[in-house]
Amino acid sequence: MTDNEWETTSFPQYTDQQEAEIIRRSPIVDVARDLGITVADRGDGNFTGVCPWCQPSDFVIYSDEGNWICYGCSESGRDVLILVCKVRELWRADAIQWLEQRLNRQASQ
Ligand SMILES: [Zn+2]
Repeated sequence: MTDNEWETTSFPQYTDQQEAEIIRRSPIVDVARDLGITVADRGDGNFTGVCPWCQPSDFVIYSDEGNWICYGCSESGRDVLILVCKVRELWRADAIQWLEQRLNRQASQ
């Protein structure tokens, strides 16, 4: 996906249900890796990573809850969508679309 494609892609409207489904199918750890965040299994079901904003740091992904926080710079979010919004600097609708296209890419591989 090039930057240009982003600009020319139209805005789909998603229902809350569609959003929830896209989020459900997007495991936060996999998405974090696709966003370029180095993530390591902490061994207790949670993951630590290198914070995209303040590196090297105490970035933790709670994979069961799907939320995340950096104890270095206090960036945090309640779900995978917020992570995409903040890392890619996207609006919510664009972040949903990013996640959906990621799923579509996986489906076509
Ligand atoms: Zn940080």
